[in-house]
Amino acid sequence: MSTVGILGGGQLARMMALAGAPLGVRFVVFDPAADACAGQVAPLQVGAFDDTAALAEFAAKVDVITFDFENVPAASARWLSERRPVFPNPAALAVAQDRLSEKTLFQELGIPLPPFADIRSREELGAKVAEFGTPCILKTRRLGYDGKGQFRIRSDADIDAAWQALGVQVEKTGLILEGFVAFDREVSVVAVRGRDGEFRAWPLTGNWHVDGVLSASLAPAAVSTEQYDIAIGYARRLAERLDYVGVFALELFCRGEELLVNEMAPRVHNSGHWTSDGAETSQFENHLRAVLGLPLGDTRVLGHACMLNWLGQMPDATAVLAEPAGHWHDYGKQPREGRKVGHANLREDSPAALADALERVGESLGRQAQVAPVLDVLRR
Ligand code: AMP
Repeated sequence: MSTVGILGGGQLARMMALAGAPLGVRFVVFDPAADACAGQVAPLQVGAFDDTAALAEFAAKVDVITFDFENVPAASARWLSERRPVFPNPAALAVAQDRLSEKTLFQELGIPLPPFADIRSREELGAKVAEFGTPCILKTRRLGYDGKGQFRIRSDADIDAAWQALGVQVEKTGLILEGFVAFDREVSVVAVRGRDGEFRAWPLTGNWHVDGVLSASLAPAAVSTEQYDIAIGYARRLAERLDYVGVFALELFCRGEELLVNEMAPRVHNSGHWTSDGAETSQFENHLRAVLGLPLGDTRVLGHACMLNWLGQMPDATAVLAEPAGHWHDYGKQPREGRKVGHANLREDSPAALADALERVGESLGRQAQVAPVLDVLRR
């Protein structure tokens, strides 16, 4: 069987390696940190993402290369692609790394999105805030994730503070201003495209963020068939244009019946973690099947699933493990404020049973606030 090289050795690489083991796939994970958590379950090569000698050594050990981290320099991905097949392709990665090119592509493909503008100076920022109105959000074009590198401009009085916080990034990462979407809810499409162009998507996932970081997901999200078809159509259009191979996520804002795209993630995604225990084939397994050119697995759901993210420190596992379909995922990381250290998946046959399970877990762990918005939807 093949050896898959993964650039980035965090929890996503770890879960890919765990999903690949039954297929007989071997792995080498490449990460700058010696304690990268995927290193607990797969051989780890420690190196810098721009160290070509280290990358050459890595390439020599593997048959095909993929990512758990999208901020690997695009130049390194291109360099590797001259030596081994790299999926998703480096051009797709480069688009997804830059909010401006990503949004320009959405626009070209006729995928609706909030207004946006490239910002190069304090004057441009002032002018665009006046055009978009407040609130709006200033973000770094590159290297932002989980709400980092963002400043919410609530009124004109915040413009100076926003520029003070992020203006220094103009040269390094670039900046983009986005109109604020007063969304009713957030959903994501997690989809996969194979080397032969076969495309599959899991049902839409409903997501709740706290301070820009995913807190809980619910699948399938209750959306109309029309909305489902539209969202999946956007994902398919994007994947085909980028000749994308592997799993990716498309994050969307729902405002009434309207769907506006926020961003794409060129990798397995936190909002698809429920698929490990709630779908016929997980996003991790299907990503590997795609990059290895194997037939894709069925994406059908096995009931109703909820994922709860654990940040900072792992809670006690007992309450989740006591549930009939409660599953625990501990990434083996050192606790640190705000760090994603694990998650739980709960699955049940009906929304009502899932709500009961979720309520029990929320109460046992003192996480009532985290489960409340999900309960609200399940019991509506
Ligand atoms: P991002 O890093 O772009 O995915 O942003 C993280 C989270 O911040 C999103 O999931 C939203 O909850 C919120 N957010 C980002 N951009 C916007 C926007 N233009 N309008 C409203 N909320 C936003």
